[in-house]
Order: sequence, then C-alpha cells, then structure tokens
Amino acid sequence: MTSQLILTLVQILYFYNSIVETKYFGSNEYYWTARNKLQAVEQNMHLGYQLQLNDKEIIVNTLLMDAKHAEFNVGLIKPVDFLPSMNFLKAKPLIENSTVFQIIKKMPKGAILHVHEKAMVSTDFLYNLTYIDDLFICITETDEISFKFAAEKPNKSKGCDNWELLSDLRRNENNIEELNAKIKSSFTLIVEDPDAVYFDINQVWKRFNSIFNTVHGLLTYRPVLEEYLYQVFEECVNDHILHLEFRGSLPEVYEKDGSVFNEEQLIEIYLNIIKSFQSTHPHFSVKFIFAPSRNINQKVFNEKIALFKKLKALNPDFMVGFDLVGQEDSGNALIDFADRILKENIDFYFHAGETNWKGMTDENLFDALLLGAKRIGHGYAITKHPAVMKLLQENKIAIEISPISNQVLNLVKDLRNHPAAELFSIDYPVVITSDDPSFWGAIGLSYDFYEAFMAFTSYNDDIRVLKQLAINSILYSGMSHEEKSLAMEVFNDQWDSFINETINSYS
Ligand SMILES: [Zn+2]
Repeated sequence: MTSQLILTLVQILYFYNSIVETKYFGSNEYYWTARNKLQAVEQNMHLGYQLQLNDKEIIVNTLLMDAKHAEFNVGLIKPVDFLPSMNFLKAKPLIENSTVFQIIKKMPKGAILHVHEKAMVSTDFLYNLTYIDDLFICITETDEISFKFAAEKPNKSKGCDNWELLSDLRRNENNIEELNAKIKSSFTLIVEDPDAVYFDINQVWKRFNSIFNTVHGLLTYRPVLEEYLYQVFEECVNDHILHLEFRGSLPEVYEKDGSVFNEEQLIEIYLNIIKSFQSTHPHFSVKFIFAPSRNINQKVFNEKIALFKKLKALNPDFMVGFDLVGQEDSGNALIDFADRILKENIDFYFHAGETNWKGMTDENLFDALLLGAKRIGHGYAITKHPAVMKLLQENKIAIEISPISNQVLNLVKDLRNHPAAELFSIDYPVVITSDDPSFWGAIGLSYDFYEAFMAFTSYNDDIRVLKQLAINSILYSGMSHEEKSLAMEVFNDQWDSFINETINSYS
C-alpha cells in the first residue's frame, strides 16, 4: 500500500471520527465546514494529486481546464452532445475539433503498453498499401475481403474461390468507387449507425475478427511489414509516445515467391526495423509480448510456451512477456492452463476481465493475479472483485485501460459509466492504452487519453491526471530499471518543451 494511500485512509478515519464525536451530523453550523473537508479529502485521493505544478504548468493547466469546463457545461445542457457518451465511431470527427483534444495531442504521453500487432496504424496508410503491385484480392459473397501478394494468381484456399489481381479489377470494374469504398470499410468497424449494426457483443466481435483476417495478408508480406512497422513507430513519435510494447502472435511472414520466415527470423525483421528507426529516433524504444490465441489446446499452449522461452533466451531485452488473446467470453479461461503456467518463471501480461459478466469470465482476474501477471489487460470487471482489487493495488500491478476499445466492443455505452472512473478516484495503478486503434480509425494514444480525461475524471481534476498517466506508463512498463530512468529523463524534457510551446502558441 502506498504511503499516500495510508495517509489518506488516516485522514478519512480522523475526519469521520471528528464529525461523529462533535455531532456534526444534522448541525447547520458545521455542515459547510464538514462538506468542504469531505470534498478535499476525496479530491486528494484522486489520480495525479501527488504532483505539484510549477508556474508555467499552472498557465497551461488553466487553458486546459477552461476548455474542459466548457465541454462539461455543454454536456450538462445537452447530454447527447457530451462526446464520451457517444459511440467513438460517431464521435471521432467531433473529438478532433475539441480544444481539450488539441492540447492532449501535443502532450507527451509516455508509453503505449497494450496494442496489437495488426491494428496499430492509421487506416489511410492501410488503404494506400492496396495500390502496391502484385496484390491479389478475394471478396466472398458476404463481402469479406482477403489480400495476398503473389507473383502468380494464388490457388483456391479456404474461404476464397477466386483471387483477382486488384490492379486489373480497378482498371476494369465499372463501379470503381463502390469497390474502393468496400475495401476501405473492410479495414475498420466504422458504420453509420454502430449501435444498430453491432447490437450485441458477439456481433461486433465477429466483424472485429474479420478485420484481422482482412489485414493479415497485407501485413504479413515481408516488404509491407517492414514499411508498416516503420510507419507505426513514426505515428507513435508524432503522437509524442516514447516507448511501445506491442502484443503479437508471430504469424508466418511471406515473400511474393511463396517462401516464408519462421518466428526467429520474424523477430530479426522486427529488430532490424527498430534499429533502423532508432538511428534517427534514438529515444524511441520497443518491446514485444508474445500473445497467441487463447483458443488453443494444452498441447499447442505448451509449444507456445516453449517457443517463447527459446526466443526470450535469444532476445531477452525485446521479448518481455507472454499473454493469450481473443474474445474472453467465448475462449479458454486462464485456469485451463494454470497447471503449466505455475511451472514457469515467465513474466505474464494477461488479458483478464474484459467482460460484463460476474462470476463467469471475470474470474480470469483471480487467475491473472495468482498466476503472477505483471500487468492486466483491460481488467474491466475489476471493481466487482474487491479482494483482487486490493491485492493488485498493494502489489503495484497496473490495469491497462482501453476506453475506446471497451466502448466500441460493446462493454459500455457512455464512458462515464466505465469502472475506470472509480479507479481514477482512488489513484489506482492504471495506464491508458489503445488496444486496436486502427480498427476504429484512431492513431496512437491521444483519443484514448481524451476519453479518459473527459469521462473518468472529476470536473476539477486537471492536467496532473494526464501527467500522472504518462508517468505511470513508464513506471509500469516492461522496461528495466535503467531504461525507465532514461525514459523519465526524456519524458521530463518533452514535457517542459510541451509546456513552453503551449504557452508560446496561446500568448
Ligand atoms: Zn487487447
């Protein structure tokens, strides 16, 4: 338990005793004093309140808070216009016009700790990849799209009866606009009326999984993968992120002639691109969490663990941990693999509690804790488990909160009702992250930071929350102690520049 929390609990106890002893209850004389004290005690428990702002930060904070209050006040008059209450698939262009968002966009945000290998880039970049030569496309009767780069027309494969060269199709198709719109829409969940189309969680996950299939053939082609990773890093840096930890399943990567790379060679490809990027961006770092599907049997699970250990031994700094991914409600539970996990000395970063159920899927949270997770992905159900919640906090195991993902994938409609609002009120170990930003047209962390700041914080919670979130992302990362110290130095420089530049641009 942090000393701050102990102090806060002592304050609460003292405050409670003092109002009982002096019979404050019902007394008009003491009502206002007690109310102000109670409000102050609570506010001091909030995320970020340990930080002290300097004079310059106070100026930027005033700009930010004026903008925040204006948006809250609009929402109070017309609740439907409050952006975190609106599905992000509709709210995105409106968020881009928000002054709060504009400030957050320029703010250094530390590290991005939970994002998936095939969903990390801007959708415009993905679409432009479809103009590369020798790209074949297959469109099924239900309009599911697959891609493959090849020197010759690929054979029929599972689910694909007819591959066509996309450049030929674009030349000959009568309705080229319709084809291009179909391709564009296959990269995201964006639809006109998301609440009607994705009426339940299974519906949206079905479409979500089909996007992974669509981008697979594009992003596992070696030359595209290299370009893609470089672009991802560039977009991170542009969004003022200094460290990336991404989860991936190490898929088979191919060349146009059909030759393939194994997992060891794929890690080599990753490391070469990182090295090349770092030659111009020396302060940007990347780590990897191996995350195969949770829908595997015990035998395959054992093989994946063995593969992880082998790759970890070869690349100890890069391979930070192991996870299992996929829709939690319909996949294997962590308990199914507990016996094997208990035999291993591996850093786990489990997805757990990404569910609305209680006493069912959410019990993965028990296992994530007891099997020694270093961080927990989503942890959406955490507030339903007070004992787990307390133990995670005491052991400084952070929850990776992905607000937009949770909303778009149908766990919560109005983000003010997200359980993270409670976690923010008690300075719980949390980080904000983006999960699969590409699939909802977002980039980096700014959109999720905006939603968190507007939906999870109190009216008067200020820039300290955002700064604390960035600091948390470095503290709870998989970086070594030395790497964290260096990252904090870089972050502090970036933060000072942000403060100075914001003051200059507004004055
Ligand atoms: Zn995830």
